[in-house]
Amino acid sequence: MTSPTRVLVLNSGSSSLKYQLLDMRDSSRLAVGLVERIGEQTSRLEHTCVTSGDARERNGPIADHDAALKAVAEELTRDGLGLDSPELAAIGHRVVHGGMFFTEPTVVDDEVLTEIERLIPVAPLHNPANLTGIRTARALRPDLPQVAVFDTAFHTTMPESAARYAIDPKTADRHRIRRYGFHGTSHAYVSRETARLLGKDPSEVNVIVLHLGNGASASAVAKGRCVDTSMGLTPLEGLVMGTRSGDLDPAVIFHLARVGDMSMDEIDTLLNKRSGLFGLCGDNDMREIRRRIDEGDEEASLAFDIYIHRIKKYIGAYFAVLGTVDAVAFTAGVGENAAPVRQAAIAGLEGLGPAVDPERNSVRSGEPRLISPDSARVAVAVVPTDEELEIATQTYALVGKNN
Ligand code: AMP
Repeated sequence: MTSPTRVLVLNSGSSSLKYQLLDMRDSSRLAVGLVERIGEQTSRLEHTCVTSGDARERNGPIADHDAALKAVAEELTRDGLGLDSPELAAIGHRVVHGGMFFTEPTVVDDEVLTEIERLIPVAPLHNPANLTGIRTARALRPDLPQVAVFDTAFHTTMPESAARYAIDPKTADRHRIRRYGFHGTSHAYVSRETARLLGKDPSEVNVIVLHLGNGASASAVAKGRCVDTSMGLTPLEGLVMGTRSGDLDPAVIFHLARVGDMSMDEIDTLLNKRSGLFGLCGDNDMREIRRRIDEGDEEASLAFDIYIHRIKKYIGAYFAVLGTVDAVAFTAGVGENAAPVRQAAIAGLEGLGPAVDPERNSVRSGEPRLISPDSARVAVAVVPTDEELEIATQTYALVGKNN
């Protein structure tokens, strides 16, 4: 019998379940979909069978992740792609926080589940949902390898000088406080694809990756290994994001508690959900912000400038961290689509080497591409991220190795 070649990728959020079924012979998508508002009366499942082009929708309550995955399994079965198929090699799960423990994709067993559970205090929003997804999938196909792919894993190569905060190490270690970084699957994929775009091996190039989505992070990748990244203990640190503040003086928190009379939970919500672009101007969608700027809106304009200023600071910092840089790569919703963001982020950095060619920058495409002029000393690239493909690739490689 030939070996199974399909991988189901699951990304379980607190009230959502995104999935893709891939055939790893050619990395093609067979089916993609999403269940949202799990646990509410208005749950919705959106399913597309890529091979037939058939798209279906289900509306109505889906009580929990167990029911959601069963509904997904039914849809896949209708397309002849059921979870009971002998062609399914493994299920790959996105897990947000792997701490220091998980440096690589890992086949899930009871011990692995316990360790992911132990990390809940540092990832209270994400790891519980990821665990639910794994447990549900395991119950449905106990015989199948389940692989956890961690958002933090790519960043575990950071040196201690970048990973540690300047606080007493005993206190830090007792509470597992250090800089972990997130979006690692995307940074790994995009830095590798950027090297490919330059016609080089990842081990030959230094790349600054700017993952600019609703969440946003930068990373410095030296010869294929992450040496610094902008998110820290949690995804709150670093760049200005859709609704997160990114870097601020930690004393702002004391000040809000003491002088602003806010509770820790209120401050947490303020900084994670009501700050960033949204906090600054009331919108977190870059399309809307650009539209407002075009109409002369000063609030939107200032929000944009603060957003760009922070990106520039990180690019400059990572030039210093890396010493030499071969490329700056933009990715994720904003990075892939918002030409004015790319233009503004690189403007004025020509002395360091990167530059943007306005005509190349304005081309809309889903393909990896260079947007710098041929004369630029440092290439600037747009590289669409593909976290699902990366999770599937890592899952398949691990399962293949174990067979
Ligand atoms: P992500 O988290 O990677 O899915 O990115 C989502 C964000 O990308 C949205 O909140 C928008 O700000 C941004 N975005 C998506 N499409 C566009 C576009 N065509 N132009 C500008 N920004 C976009």
